Amino acid sequence: MKSRAARRRGDEGQHLSHTAVGEEDRIVLIEWLNAAIGSNSYLRVSRLIHSILSATAVGDAALRDRAFVHVGTREELLEKTQRRLEIDKLLQPIDVAVKRYVFHPRLMFLMSGRRRWWLDLTGDPVAGDYKLTRADGRRIYEGDAVFGVLRLASYGFLERVRQCLTCQKWIYAHPSHKKYCDLACQLKYFASTPRQKEKRAEYMRRYRVDQKQRTERAQRLASRESRAANSPPAPVRDSSRALRQS
Ligand SMILES: [Zn+2]
Repeated sequence: MKSRAARRRGDEGQHLSHTAVGEEDRIVLIEWLNAAIGSNSYLRVSRLIHSILSATAVGDAALRDRAFVHVGTREELLEKTQRRLEIDKLLQPIDVAVKRYVFHPRLMFLMSGRRRWWLDLTGDPVAGDYKLTRADGRRIYEGDAVFGVLRLASYGFLERVRQCLTCQKWIYAHPSHKKYCDLACQLKYFASTPRQKEKRAEYMRRYRVDQKQRTERAQRLASRESRAANSPPAPVRDSSRALRQS
């Protein structure tokens, strides 16, 4: 049995690689996806992401419904078999897509942080490869993007890779419920939902009624003032004369 210190070191190591890998991939993959939109490379990688996410969702639901536990009536067992077949069907395109890529191990020397070595895999070029050159000069190919997808999937972070609901730009959701690339897209999306549209229409209705009432009030006031200006002046009582006569 491992000592407590060894267990702790192991946990920390796991945690470190988990975080470092997750952060690096989330930046590089998102940059690549947004730059590659419209290319064949992009189609292949985005299709792979969707395939993995669909299989995850269906697999999660099957696990929740205990589809892998061979207990139940004949009908229930038949249904469970159907669901397992459905998952197999979803896994096939992932296997086929991944076989297209060939990776080679590369051990990199790290010049900062506590770790000195970083194990990476570099991908062979593929036909119609989309190459992104980052600001630091590093080049990212389709194989690198795919490796990022696989790594994020294996760490359970791929669900965070999604498209902004308004502008379709790719984002890494942090926090995990994030759905928009920025505040402007969030406001735009809410303004376009039926509830918000109805609210806006109601506001405009009230605004127009209010404006009409204001105009009518102003017109009434104006006509009252003009009537007052055109009528003869009222007689003024001469109180001084009245005082002199008494
Ligand atoms: Zn957006």
